[in-house]
Amino acid sequence: MVMLEVKDLAVNYGVINAVKGVSFNIHEGEIVSLIGANGAGKTTILKTISGLLKPVAGAITYEGNEIQKQKAPKIVAAGISQVPEGRHIFPGMSVRENLQMGAFLQNNRSEIESSFETVYSRFPVLKERINQDAATLSGGEQQMLAMGRALMSKPKLLLLDEPSMGLAPIFINEIFDIVKTIKEQGTTVLLIEQNAKKALSIADRGYVLASGQVKMTGTGQELLANKDVQKAYLGG
Ligand code: ATP
Repeated sequence: MVMLEVKDLAVNYGVINAVKGVSFNIHEGEIVSLIGANGAGKTTILKTISGLLKPVAGAITYEGNEIQKQKAPKIVAAGISQVPEGRHIFPGMSVRENLQMGAFLQNNRSEIESSFETVYSRFPVLKERINQDAATLSGGEQQMLAMGRALMSKPKLLLLDEPSMGLAPIFINEIFDIVKTIKEQGTTVLLIEQNAKKALSIADRGYVLASGQVKMTGTGQELLANKDVQKAYLGG
């Protein structure tokens, strides 16, 4: 079943056309990855899905409803949650307080507690550091916190923007393993990555973007095996 359908999406920053008529879809239960060089338009697409940017043309249909004109909180309430590039954790606030921010739309105490428990069981390291200032976490731990914060709203679709950016290899593997587990536990994932090799290796399907357009699509395995993709994005 198609969960999210992006059709002929165009997004501008002033006179700059960052996204020029992009179409793709995500089926329920999939990991779909968008890959492409710096400036291809990946982050712009993610921000438009989550309601932070408004398109100049095209439609985004989520579970049968067009959402491209809706405000971000309404989109979160509908079940889409974004983990931004660079994590954007709140310094000066504890790990627990950061997670609490992810539950900003919930007011049922027991439901919030159950979200905390789910996040702590998926990220035991966060439980160990519950009262620690989030700014003092390592890069990998901050990425887990950003993912945990997004999961506090119990999303059906999780949007991940460059989760491996700036992390040591050991953390990169751990983050990708966690993304796989999140999928196995029933959350659909849209994954944006510079690390195309890793992203495609866990993705069901992928789309290759260049200059604001979709250039190629296929299963993760097909794109990994494609000579052009290898040359341009997988280091030969
Ligand atoms: P990266 O991997 O480097 O984040 P990306 O594929 O996510 O790249 P975007 O960040 O979506 O690419 O940028 C797409 C294009 O839009 C680029 O040419 C970029 O310079 C431009 N752009 C992005 N944000 C702005 C902005 N706030 N104002 C003007 N132009 C912008």
